[in-house]
Amino acid sequence: MPSFKLLEAASNELDIIQSVLIIGAGLTGLTAAIRLRQANFKVTVLERSPAMQDIGAGIQIPPNCSRVLEGLGVLQKIENEAIAPQTLIIRSQKGDQLHSQIINSDDDHGSAYPHLVIHRADFIRVLYEEALELGVHIQLDARVDYVDFEAGSVKLLTGATFTADIILGADGEHSICRKLLQGPKNTSQSSGNLVYRVMVPASVVALDPDLHCLIKPGGIQAWYGPGSHLICYQLDRDDSFNVVLTLPAPAGAPTIGPQPADINELREYFHDWDPRLQKLLDLTDQTQCWTLHEHKLSDKWVHPSGRFILLGDAAHPILPYM
Ligand SMILES: Cc1cc2nc3c(=O)[nH]c(=O)nc-3n(C[C@H](O)[C@H](O)[C@H](O)COP(=O)(O)OP(=O)(O)OC[C@H]3O[C@@H](n4cnc5c(N)ncnc54)[C@H](O)[C@@H]3O)c2cc1C
Repeated sequence: MPSFKLLEAASNELDIIQSVLIIGAGLTGLTAAIRLRQANFKVTVLERSPAMQDIGAGIQIPPNCSRVLEGLGVLQKIENEAIAPQTLIIRSQKGDQLHSQIINSDDDHGSAYPHLVIHRADFIRVLYEEALELGVHIQLDARVDYVDFEAGSVKLLTGATFTADIILGADGEHSICRKLLQGPKNTSQSSGNLVYRVMVPASVVALDPDLHCLIKPGGIQAWYGPGSHLICYQLDRDDSFNVVLTLPAPAGAPTIGPQPADINELREYFHDWDPRLQKLLDLTDQTQCWTLHEHKLSDKWVHPSGRFILLGDAAHPILPYM
């Protein structure tokens, strides 16, 4: 986290930076808040949601991220809510195994840091509670409408204003901060892909003779075909088995935010893939679908005043697994 080290160094030497305002209480904003509070800054986080929502599904925490979490002192708490799958298995669309790799093991074959899978809501909750415990002030129901980069001030939709020595814009993919910093033209565009999320009962997967290999001995499993892929793993929450499917959006389809979709679209699209996938998709009638966005990367992440920095998806959203 080089930018935090710079802030810390500047603060120690010049004793000028004392307060930091962070826009967005997602993974980026909360991680930044914890680190900066540990470095003794006065930290306020402004989050538009009225409550920390119990939303999302599975998310992978690869070893480089768990190393950062250990540095923050929260890795053990995260591990308590997560699963450390033993293997990563990659298959062709027909199910032939192309690659297998041990990603967590008790001996020296794995990484020094674990590769975890966790429910996003649990991940956020651990970071949120840690930030509060350290004395970060988190203001919910606080939608930022404008940032004055020169003055170091932020205006909410309600008209309330906040000022700080430094402001971090961690307001995600559709960031208002990025729009204000880089201009309205640099907005997110559809990547041409849809992502579907399916949750099925892990206990049913475990009992099915064709599917139990997806759970025992435990791993992250992926299938790749032309322009499409599917990835799945078990979560340590509510008997959940998490399946994420990415495929091309139909030509001319409008971009959509997360919304319920027809699971038959998936059954149809994957009908000639590995037959185990059809069995998996037959375990539920529910799915959510949304458009994956991308946007042109800019190197303008810091305002010339030196008082504003873009972070996380607001600066550089990533497309999953591609
Ligand atoms: C399908 C999918 C799967 C993924 N899987 C993984 C994975 O396995 N592992 C991984 O590391 N990454 C994964 N990613 C990427 C990861 O989810 C993002 O990189 C990460 O969530 C970005 O966090 P963030 O805090 O920058 O943004 P966000 O999570 O979008 O958080 C932004 C926050 O800012 C708030 N906000 C927005 N606007 C305002 C405003 N005007 N005022 C105040 N608050 C505001 C929002 O409510 C939100 O809480 C995946 C992404 C997708 C789409």
